[in-house]
Amino acid sequence: MAYVDTQPLVRALPSFVRELCQRLDDAGHRGWVVGGSVRDVLMAARSQSELDLKGDWDVATDALPEQVIRLFRRTIPTGLQHGTVTVMMGRDGVEVTTLRGESTYSDGRRPDAVTFVDDIVADLARRDFTINAIAYDPVRDLLSDPFDGLSDLERRCLRAVGDPAQRFAEDGLRVLRAARFHATLEVDIEPATARAMAPSLASYRCVSAERIRDEWQKALKARRPSRALQAMLDHGMLAITAPELVAMNGCDQNRHHAYDVWNHTLRVLDDVAQDRPALRLAALLHDIGKPMTRDVHPTTGDFTFYNHEHAGAPLADDLLRRLRFSNEQRHHATSLVRHHIVVYDAAWTDAAVRRWIRRVSKELVGDVIALCRSDVRGKGRPVDDELARIDQLEMHVGRILEQGAALSLKDLAINGRDLMQDCGASPGPLLGQILTALLEEVVENPEHNERERLLARARELISLGPQ
Ligand code: ATP
Ligand code: MG
Repeated sequence: MAYVDTQPLVRALPSFVRELCQRLDDAGHRGWVVGGSVRDVLMAARSQSELDLKGDWDVATDALPEQVIRLFRRTIPTGLQHGTVTVMMGRDGVEVTTLRGESTYSDGRRPDAVTFVDDIVADLARRDFTINAIAYDPVRDLLSDPFDGLSDLERRCLRAVGDPAQRFAEDGLRVLRAARFHATLEVDIEPATARAMAPSLASYRCVSAERIRDEWQKALKARRPSRALQAMLDHGMLAITAPELVAMNGCDQNRHHAYDVWNHTLRVLDDVAQDRPALRLAALLHDIGKPMTRDVHPTTGDFTFYNHEHAGAPLADDLLRRLRFSNEQRHHATSLVRHHIVVYDAAWTDAAVRRWIRRVSKELVGDVIALCRSDVRGKGRPVDDELARIDQLEMHVGRILEQGAALSLKDLAINGRDLMQDCGASPGPLLGQILTALLEEVVENPEHNERERLLARARELISLGPQ
């Protein structure tokens, strides 16, 4: 094997990982650092890019799990059935996994049996891609790279270890990992590996929604998440997981757009700040309602998408529910989908801006404005006018927020308890209706937000009874 500079690994390896491997060695075993962190260090060194290690350090060893448990003072049996023990080195935990061999997979998800081996090459052979199948022994300063992952790192090439069709058939998560790595590592999928993806989707259908969600979340943190989404479309995963997104592909738009809905969406997605994955999720879904609302204008003959934001919100909600996104993520993304259309112009009064903020909520206005900007930039046409209007909206919103006017129920000078104590209202839905009506009045006239005035108005509303 060609000489390989291990210095980047020597520098990046935390001392507790080195010490762990040394202790295994002292006891007559061996420890190799494996997986994503080895890959990321070597990759960053090759492209001379900054190293941003997010993952954990994983160690593979020929010691059996019970031997690992005996060797270290504090261990947690995190995955004994796979041979994994977490070893606590001070406050840091390291996953130590006994070398495993190839197994048969009859369910496309997990091996039928786990067999332990004493050979690092056999362990690397069961890993998914060559760049993930490199091991480093820090005690001997030796790199083990039986599948030439280093050359693939150099070429930024994602290649399955062994026969790609078989590897994808064994475990359906791998095709999705390929799409994700294509985005996060900016590697190209090697042609034979790519060709094997679509025909192997039977196993992908067995992957749990939670694991798909986790891969989506990782993909959304890439510099250009569109790479992952396009790969999911091209290789058939999206048709299985999110057919409502596939419907955007080839859905042409009106003359203000250069791209169809899908390509526009990908541009919007990449335009949103990399450190805002939640906003990117909303960007991915913002036009999900367009295919079902597309119509042709009777006189201009141009396409229209009336109310696509309202049609899209429940579609987004359903998709995120199926993919087991958290309630918080789902509500956030769905609200942004619903509110992403804003037709601001200089004629908007302060009250109009206050009504808009109340509808969107103070918490979300910043995100809606950010999404609008990316949405406009993703049109692929000159958009300076539209961007200038968004700037004006943002400034107008800033002025309104500075005035501190009441924009939500909790900003009102009275609450439900006041209604019961001072106006004799009884608990029930009427309380909420009255508070909402008061808020609407206060949004029109901020100076009305005074306790006595609101109480008097509340008594009037109560005497009128439920509306
Ligand atoms: P990252 O941690 O950056 O998401 P990773 O490659 O480290 O990426 P992990 O899930 O941490 O991913 O897995 C660690 C290693 O285990 C991988 O590098 C790979 O060698 C192996 N591996 C993980 N998942 C699979 C899989 N589905 N099939 C085969 N090998 C896998
Ligand atoms: Mg990892």
